[in-house]
Amino acid sequence: MSEKPKIALYWCASCGGCEESVVDLAEDILFVVDNVDIVLWPVGLDFKKKDVEAMPDGSIVASLINGAIRTTEQEEMARMLRRKSQVVIAYGACAQLGGIPGLANQFSLETILKFVYEEAPSVVNELKTRPLERFKDNGRTTELPGLWNVVRTLDQVIDVEYYIPGCPPSPKLLKEAVLALLSGHLPPVGTVLAPDIALCEECSKKDTKPTDLKFESFKRTHLWEVDPEKCLLSQGFLCMGPATRSGCGALCVEGNMPCTGCYGPTSRVRDQGAKFLSSISSSIGADSVEDIDKILVGIPDPVGTFYRYGLPGSMLKRKVVL
Ligand code: SF4
Ligand code: SF4
Repeated sequence: MSEKPKIALYWCASCGGCEESVVDLAEDILFVVDNVDIVLWPVGLDFKKKDVEAMPDGSIVASLINGAIRTTEQEEMARMLRRKSQVVIAYGACAQLGGIPGLANQFSLETILKFVYEEAPSVVNELKTRPLERFKDNGRTTELPGLWNVVRTLDQVIDVEYYIPGCPPSPKLLKEAVLALLSGHLPPVGTVLAPDIALCEECSKKDTKPTDLKFESFKRTHLWEVDPEKCLLSQGFLCMGPATRSGCGALCVEGNMPCTGCYGPTSRVRDQGAKFLSSISSSIGADSVEDIDKILVGIPDPVGTFYRYGLPGSMLKRKVVL
């Protein structure tokens, strides 16, 4: 009997949602385990790092790595899986673009640690104790991974062949990627394994999207009622559909929530946030600075709105803190 192709699944700086999407394969997971040999999946199976280290370089057909890179351990694991794998797939928004953890690139590491361990309203830490990377006590040594100053995308650390977008990716995209790996019919290196059209194209409200928008206010869903029959952008809700890749089935929009952009840009867009920001800016229905400012009050968190999933992978990458 010929050996099944070996697959590794690993997580770095992520929330666990990408791991859930693997479980969401439901009965298709039986097809996957029938056809591949999973050699590493810390969230689901008890494999050891040393067993993967002992495998010959290139012996894993594909590693699907989710999460951004923030710690020394994540970088070490990503580099090890790169050596062992023929193909590396950046799985999910955090690995592809930096994701929600990438919003930390607005602050210095010291600012984050000071807030988390000293200043957060729920923290009581009079001695200002912080975790140490290395701690010796009573003859025992405990080690923790170090934190890098910035959050990086996977391809800012190792070479990546393919990307599966989404927060999290849909099980359908994962299944299609596994089928492509098994068949050997792989697209050109660098391909994002999802349809290369804007989300608006698969949205059931697209026929009500006006070509000429004029925003007189920006609305937030917890303050205003959404008309389920009409394009959300036309109602003043910031729906990132025009600047976002399709492939999720317009999940949020079909639930009457604006798209927040988790599938990232299409191949024709270099910077998803800049693209959306520029189209919004040209559609503000006011002329004076005062009136424009009043409209912009409806966007209280511009970075979290326009770069929610992609600050490290954007042209901006980070806020430079001097
Ligand atoms: S902007 Fe949003 S609601 Fe409007 S068509 Fe595009 S995806 Fe649908
Ligand atoms: S509608 Fe937008 S935010 Fe929601 S899953 Fe799809 S791409 Fe992600």
